[in-house]
Amino acid sequence: MTALHEPHAEDFQSLDELHALQDRKLQALGLRLAGSPEWCAHLAKAGVKPGDLRDRTSLAAMPTLEKADLRERYPFPMLTVPVEQVARFCATSGTTGLPVMFGFTRHDWEVTLVRQLARIYRTVNLRPGDRVYQGFGYGLWIGGPSMDAALSAYGAVNFPVGPGRADLVVRWLADHGYTVTTMSPLWLMTLIATAKNAGFDPARQWKLRLGVFGGQSVSATFRQEIEAQMPSGFMAHNNYGTTEAGGPILSISCPHSHAHDQMHLINEDSVLTEIVDPKTLQPVGPGEVGEVLITTLDKQASPVVRWRTRDLVRRADRPYACACGRKAFALIGRIIGRSDDMLKVRGVIVFPTQVEDVIAGMECLAKEAWQIYIDGDGASLDRIEVAVERLPSATMGTDALAAEVAARLRARLGLTVNVTCHVEGKLPRYEAKAARVIRRAATH
Ligand SMILES: [Zn+2]
Repeated sequence: MTALHEPHAEDFQSLDELHALQDRKLQALGLRLAGSPEWCAHLAKAGVKPGDLRDRTSLAAMPTLEKADLRERYPFPMLTVPVEQVARFCATSGTTGLPVMFGFTRHDWEVTLVRQLARIYRTVNLRPGDRVYQGFGYGLWIGGPSMDAALSAYGAVNFPVGPGRADLVVRWLADHGYTVTTMSPLWLMTLIATAKNAGFDPARQWKLRLGVFGGQSVSATFRQEIEAQMPSGFMAHNNYGTTEAGGPILSISCPHSHAHDQMHLINEDSVLTEIVDPKTLQPVGPGEVGEVLITTLDKQASPVVRWRTRDLVRRADRPYACACGRKAFALIGRIIGRSDDMLKVRGVIVFPTQVEDVIAGMECLAKEAWQIYIDGDGASLDRIEVAVERLPSATMGTDALAAEVAARLRARLGLTVNVTCHVEGKLPRYEAKAARVIRRAATH
């Protein structure tokens, strides 16, 4: 058997091979779902039954799956195996409502998930013996525990530090000689600032050569800013996944697509993705923006069929033309935002990531600390306010900086935005996913 870190022929399979495998696995999934009364009832609402799922073509007739479908089957929705066969549960973050529980059998956790993450590690050239500062959170969140399982099987040296403890880890980064980190990119930016304040020089004293960044999608400008302050050759990779898909396993950039800010849908042979128009659910073409739908092909417990992630992404103009030679794992841009993060301001669509792009492009601002404030509870807004922080090294004052940010936002969004500029350290920092949009209660 090929060791997890060695080159795998399956990573370079053809599109025809992938499609044949997806068809076989979809048919097997239909047979598995037939044993679940919950799945039969869910599919019956759309007038179909599990046996109708035979291949990729028939998938389009299946209903999508949404949070409301799972909530009404509390506490262990659509589990498909007896609870006794679940080795562990993970849960969604529960930022809106109760967390939803997803089960993993031993095979799901120790075989499927490990294979999926090992392919991600191979794609970014992680090596056995790499010292990994694992900075994703633990508990019911899938980030940290999934990395622990896969790093161990892969032969990496894991330091499961989790998020937080900045004062300690800026020292450990120098003393322990970590070569790889898995964490939120926002947190690494916070660590760089902490290290500099404590008298460390990350570019010289740290050994990091690779970052696998998840939990939060950041722009190419933000990643370049991180790379510029790291030891030379350090490469920051965007990694995307969800609990519903079975982990942080959906996509990763390769050393070639990294420069174009694109990721491969890297596990299409075990998690099938569709990218569709959120309104019509019709597939979008190359170069177009759509929502990611997920169907898990291998998961024994808690499979999903056409799960609506609400994450919006742009398909690459040439999805199968990466110089790395991967022919079956299509390229997508970074996650643009969630369809529920989308703001409508005086009729103009605004994504928080557009604001982030502007802030990341200004040297004199803290990249990890900024907020958008909105007022009231309506869906359509009259105005938004943006708060940023001035770095001590900036030559401009806070008022001049606020005016400059406002001018750039006007150019980018076509909107006049109120901007407040604070001194460094005033705005909240986030160890994982940032809450960028804060809705204030109506005051009048
Ligand atoms: Zn590639």
